[in-house]
Amino acid sequence: MAQGVWTIVEQREGEIRKISYEIISEGRRLADALGQELTAVLLGAGIKEKAAGLGHYGADKVMVADDPRLDPYTTDAYVAVISQLVKAGEPALLLVGASVQGKDLAARLSANLDVGMAQDCTAFAIEDGNLVAIRPIYAGKAYAKVTFENSRPQMATARPNVMAINEPDTSKSAEVIDASFTLEDSALKTKVAEVIKDESGKVDLTEADKIVSGGRGMKGPENYKILEELADLIGASVGASRSAVDAGWRPHSDQVGQTGKVVSPNLYIACGISGAIQHLAGMSTSKVIVAINKDPDAPIFQKADYGVVADLFDVVPALTEEVKKYLEG
Ligand SMILES: Cc1cc2nc3c(=O)[nH]c(=O)nc-3n(C[C@H](O)[C@H](O)[C@H](O)COP(=O)(O)OP(=O)(O)OC[C@H]3O[C@@H](n4cnc5c(N)ncnc54)[C@H](O)[C@@H]3O)c2cc1C
Repeated sequence: MAQGVWTIVEQREGEIRKISYEIISEGRRLADALGQELTAVLLGAGIKEKAAGLGHYGADKVMVADDPRLDPYTTDAYVAVISQLVKAGEPALLLVGASVQGKDLAARLSANLDVGMAQDCTAFAIEDGNLVAIRPIYAGKAYAKVTFENSRPQMATARPNVMAINEPDTSKSAEVIDASFTLEDSALKTKVAEVIKDESGKVDLTEADKIVSGGRGMKGPENYKILEELADLIGASVGASRSAVDAGWRPHSDQVGQTGKVVSPNLYIACGISGAIQHLAGMSTSKVIVAINKDPDAPIFQKADYGVVADLFDVVPALTEEVKKYLEG
């Protein structure tokens, strides 16, 4: 019988990504509700030393698959290894982060395992021993409650920045297990030729705690410097609407929305963004939304916790000055 909760750990260059701590923490809560063990599955090359520390966040066991062909991530290699481990270990629940990598992995993995999967969930619960997943639908206008009839493991991905991370308990460490798997070269159809890094040093939008975002109301690329100044002061990343990206003012990697990134920061400041449904689809689960727009009827105000009806070219520099004074004083 399927037993236990498994979470797939995401790492890049040996550094554990924040989403991994989020799903381990959530996995702990689900494992407790089921009265079962939590196993974190860590794949990579030379990453074993990172394993035990995952116990601080609630993992009972960490299964490590160590192989040079598992770093950097490729869908082929990860799916080949994880599906073997899942078939052998038969977990009841399998959680993956809904990051760019996690969404790619989970989709292929669920097809390979022939199980259903709920993508980009914002909450989980256990009812009658089964996983119940809540996920936004219709661009965040409604929430669907997803249950799984017969498929095991019950599989879901969790939206980054939504689930709370457990306070680390350094007195607890996880039992580290070497995963047993075979990886045939013939199974690997893709090879990473080169990794081109974003040199900006900014936190990726999907992991950002705060985002200052600008739309068509910014009037031109040169004006983003006022958003960057505010963002630097408060430790935020800069995002954009699709209009700004389509106009060539910002790179596509900055786009928030249905065809851009889905973000859930603690603070989202929308400047000169009308709040089209496709934009809201990417940011409506942000914890606090501030909208600055000179049109009082802009739809963004229906989602905003704080709304400022004014010219952003007056408000943003004034806000930056106030933050400076606050930080100095
Ligand atoms: C299939 C599809 C997918 C899409 N995907 C996305 C997506 O991923 N992300 C996305 O953002 N959009 C997406 N869109 C586009 C979306 O429908 C909107 O066109 C877009 O979000 C509008 O961008 P905006 O709010 O910057 O521009 P606008 O709608 O033109 O709004 C500009 C706003 O700025 C305000 N403004 C102007 N000047 C000032 C000023 N000086 N001070 C204050 N406020 C000012 C105006 O009042 C206005 O509300 C998609 C559309 C389709 C059809």
